[in-house]
Amino acid sequence: MKGLWGRPTVINNVETLANIPVIINKGAEWFSKIGTATSKGTKVFALTGKVNNSGLIEVPMGTTLREIIFDIGGGIRGGHQFKAAQTGGPSGGIIPPQFLDTPIDYENLAKIGSIMGSGGLIVMDETDCVVDIAKFYLDFTVDESCGKCAPCRIGGRKLLNYLKKITDGRGTEQDIKDMEAICDAMCKASLCGLGQTASNPVKSTLRYFMDEYMEHIHDKKCRAGKCSKLIQYKIDPAKCKGCTLCARKCPAGAITGTVKNPHVIDPAKCIKCGQCEASCKFGAISHG
Ligand code: SF4
Ligand code: SF4
Ligand code: SF4
Repeated sequence: MKGLWGRPTVINNVETLANIPVIINKGAEWFSKIGTATSKGTKVFALTGKVNNSGLIEVPMGTTLREIIFDIGGGIRGGHQFKAAQTGGPSGGIIPPQFLDTPIDYENLAKIGSIMGSGGLIVMDETDCVVDIAKFYLDFTVDESCGKCAPCRIGGRKLLNYLKKITDGRGTEQDIKDMEAICDAMCKASLCGLGQTASNPVKSTLRYFMDEYMEHIHDKKCRAGKCSKLIQYKIDPAKCKGCTLCARKCPAGAITGTVKNPHVIDPAKCIKCGQCEASCKFGAISHG
């Protein structure tokens, strides 16, 4: 085994090394009293996303997500609803609300499909689309893949293409089956940790948020309004005063109507630029 300058080398992260002086000073028994039966001590998380208080926090292993997000993080920003949390950085799983009260340690995170990883903890609300989030993280890991082994090199790119297809409104149920098979192959056959964990955001969202995948596939709908190709602009006829401003602003000629009568948007022509919604003074145009 050769490491730095041809010598045996031990690599540890700073968090591990920072525990050593405390254990030497206060003893292993004291340290072992903190945490859960299987994961001892404390854990540092980089708490960020849609929480009121973000920053680096240190909590005993076994602290629940609810305590971290609502007691320490001060709850969800802007009065929004908690939707999910992602632990462990780009290779971590997306954790749904039913696990808010699960004590967080290495073992429980593995059970619910995530990892401790780099200690990242990103909080999401209902304005986040889980399919789009899975695509975002996979884009990162595909970029990071060194390309040495096929499961990670080819599997990651294929998964990303499927996610793009679904967020563009072209997905099928067969794509979901293919994605599940690719996730499985990447986990089992990739050479290193990157490829073995890269599919976690996809696997966890398929496991916990399948209804949102199905909405993208069957209803061509993104409930969070994040997938721009699936956004639909609509005019509420009860609010429309027929001022014609939106029709004059629309760069695609997608809006028709006569003065003082409700206007209509042709979805086939709409290029989702949002200019009509921004220009209407009567709040008659919305998207979803
Ligand atoms: S799993 Fe590791 S070795 Fe294989 S391509 Fe990905 S980064 Fe490279
Ligand atoms: S700008 Fe608003 S009120 Fe005017 S026509 Fe368009 S939707 Fe109707
Ligand atoms: S979103 Fe843009 S293209 Fe679509 S109807 Fe409104 S102004 Fe026209």
